[in-house]
Amino acid sequence: MVEDNRLIKVLADLVAFESVTPNSAGSLEYIECFVTKLGAGCVYVNRNQTSNLIVTIGNGDRILAFAGHVDVVPPGDSAKWINGNPYQLHVDGDLIIGRGVADMKGAIAAFLLALEQFVAVTDLSQYKIMLLLTSDEEGSAHDGTILMVDYLKQNQIQLNYCLVGEPSCVDVIGDTIKVGRRGSLTGSLVVNGKQGHIAYPHLCDNPIHSFAPAMSELSSKIWDNGNEFFPASSLQFANISSGLGVTNVIPGQLTTNFNFRYNTNHSVDSLKQEVLAILNKYKLNYDLSWQHSANPFLTKVGSLIELSRQAINQVCGVNVACKTDGGTSDGRFLIEVSDEIIEFGLRNASIHQLNEATSVSDLTKLASIYSILLCKIFND
Ligand SMILES: [Zn+2]
Repeated sequence: MVEDNRLIKVLADLVAFESVTPNSAGSLEYIECFVTKLGAGCVYVNRNQTSNLIVTIGNGDRILAFAGHVDVVPPGDSAKWINGNPYQLHVDGDLIIGRGVADMKGAIAAFLLALEQFVAVTDLSQYKIMLLLTSDEEGSAHDGTILMVDYLKQNQIQLNYCLVGEPSCVDVIGDTIKVGRRGSLTGSLVVNGKQGHIAYPHLCDNPIHSFAPAMSELSSKIWDNGNEFFPASSLQFANISSGLGVTNVIPGQLTTNFNFRYNTNHSVDSLKQEVLAILNKYKLNYDLSWQHSANPFLTKVGSLIELSRQAINQVCGVNVACKTDGGTSDGRFLIEVSDEIIEFGLRNASIHQLNEATSVSDLTKLASIYSILLCKIFND
């Protein structure tokens, strides 16, 4: 068993670094110091203001990587935090509060202690464990995990197992692991018309009217019915505007944007084609640009899901569900260098909120699960 007091001490140390994205604020150097004592080698790959730490320990054949981020979102009004300081860990009975405790410094602390315990009793030749830690997950993600993935590719390192410590659980610790994520595609559309007096519509071309049937079709279309691992793909309009703010002018333009969260039944190109077909069907005069921020991905099914399921059941006594919902994650980059990949961490109910919270019992369970998982992967 990982010792509670030490686990909380390491978490308190990590929370104390004011690592608002993309600043690591000394947290990566702290982790470097921790793992160096265990015999690990460390490499930094940095760009712009982002620091990324790659840790390697052991010289076995199979590799498990723990991936995550030390950066946090801004705390908001500090005075509204329970002790007036989001970076000073607040522990009251089972309750733990502090910025980043759930997303995801708690998981990092849990993995560090699980690693320390595992390394103390296991021969170096039996395992290779890596840590891939970035300070740019909550921000643009341009200089974060994507850079470490390039490093792994350049050094021809393929991960057998990748465990992302993002907060995946919903109601109780152990209820959910993520086995993939949906893709994200945004379209920005301008529908052109002809402005004029509202009493003379025959002299104008009203873009609100011309877009209305296309919007209706786009918003009601069933894109697919989902599949075994994914919910149905969805298109949602996020913004729409047109008009001059007066009641006697037909506007000359309508601007809108919409976002797809899509599953593996679609590719980015197939979605674009279907949208174009609808816009063209209604003979709209338009300009459309796309921003594609993530492909959908799904782990290969191997032993990682099953061993995680066993470890979680052993510690929590719950049956884990495998899901792909939620926003995008750095798993979208890591899949390129990973045979199997899952995300498993703390509960996500309070992430990014004031008084972000976890509990001593959840944290202890998570450390035990990570610890058992390491033994199952490398020793069984
Ligand atoms: Zn996170």
